[in-house]
Amino acid sequence: MMSKKPCTHECLAATEFSKVLICRECGVVHLHVQNMSLRLEVSDFLSFADTMAEAAHQARAGQKDKSKRAGFTVVKSSTRLN
Ligand SMILES: [Zn+2]
Repeated sequence: MMSKKPCTHECLAATEFSKVLICRECGVVHLHVQNMSLRLEVSDFLSFADTMAEAAHQARAGQKDKSKRAGFTVVKSSTRLN
């Protein structure tokens, strides 16, 4: 049997909501989100991280549009009421 270095889980980032650990020995990233846990190859994780960054960017853009539109609607309806 091959002797294997013990895993070292280095924390890359953590919030109350999620935690990302890397094992550089295995080249694996452990992604913990609430009660969910994903084990990804480093390259797969980086691809996933790009997807998440883009998704977050789009989600924030959508939020901004929505609040802008809501503000506009309120102004318009109050104008109508007066
Ligand atoms: Zn490991």
